[in-house]
Amino acid sequence: MFLFKYPKLFKFRENNQERMAEKNIKSGKFNKISVTLLSSYLYCKRKMFIEQVLGIREMPKEATVVGNIRHSVLDLVNKQEKGLVSSIIPENKEMIDKIYKESYSNNLKNAIKINKNLLYSLGLDLVETYKKLWVFFNDEASTRAGNIISFIKEFNVFGTELWERLTPKIESEVFVSSDRLELKGKIDRLEKHEDRLVPVEIKTGKAPKEGVWEGHLIQVAAYMLLLEDQFKKNTNEGIVDYINEKAKRKVKINPFLKDEVIKLKNKVKELLNSSQVPPMCNQEKKCERCGIREECFNLDN
Ligand code: SF4
Repeated sequence: MFLFKYPKLFKFRENNQERMAEKNIKSGKFNKISVTLLSSYLYCKRKMFIEQVLGIREMPKEATVVGNIRHSVLDLVNKQEKGLVSSIIPENKEMIDKIYKESYSNNLKNAIKINKNLLYSLGLDLVETYKKLWVFFNDEASTRAGNIISFIKEFNVFGTELWERLTPKIESEVFVSSDRLELKGKIDRLEKHEDRLVPVEIKTGKAPKEGVWEGHLIQVAAYMLLLEDQFKKNTNEGIVDYINEKAKRKVKINPFLKDEVIKLKNKVKELLNSSQVPPMCNQEKKCERCGIREECFNLDN
């Protein structure tokens, strides 16, 4: 490519990559690997390297912006849930579903308003975005309300006592991290049962015919390892929730899968602390829809 015609420029880029790698090692930026990078590596290691090490990012896409809105609403409702559950008393117990739906709806409207310029720049209509996301939040509200209703039926408790005794407690956007495993991540949804923790990864893409995609399997397995390490609780089952297809797929951990996660984390870490750009993935379909295609093709190796 054109860099071969300009050896000085080639040298500059090479040196620059080395400098960046050195800087990354010194700063300890990649001492702990984010769980999402494990699936990014499996998808295309070159893309992961270009984004993470060279700092070249894709322009925001519809899926990313909509995904960020979804995460921020989950996070907000999560923070409000203690107050919400504690406000449930015998007089309003018939309205639990409504209370949850109002909370999700209000937070969703606010999140859309905050992101309106970004949505407009992508040619997205605010009302259509609300409707699209509401399908998911409507289900989410029903799941959470259903959980509370069943608990009240069984134990007949209300207010702060209801919150304190509630099980499973469902939390969203739960941060987990481990120095020992050199991993960190944010779990979309965590079901806290008395005897076990169940991480749930929410995905908007297509579900495979059976089971889960490899990247999703590794991601959920990594969360199980992190939960086990952090909370010392039984975590041998996780879920991938393909929300657009209403398909909840279970993932069971086993010693081979644990090994796979650790081996993959080591490979990711090694790559992120190196200065060597990996080869192209040679998968036409992936490259066609890749947002950093041009930058990738213009690299010299
Ligand atoms: S264009 Fe293809 S090889 Fe290059 S980063 Fe994107 S997916 Fe990977």
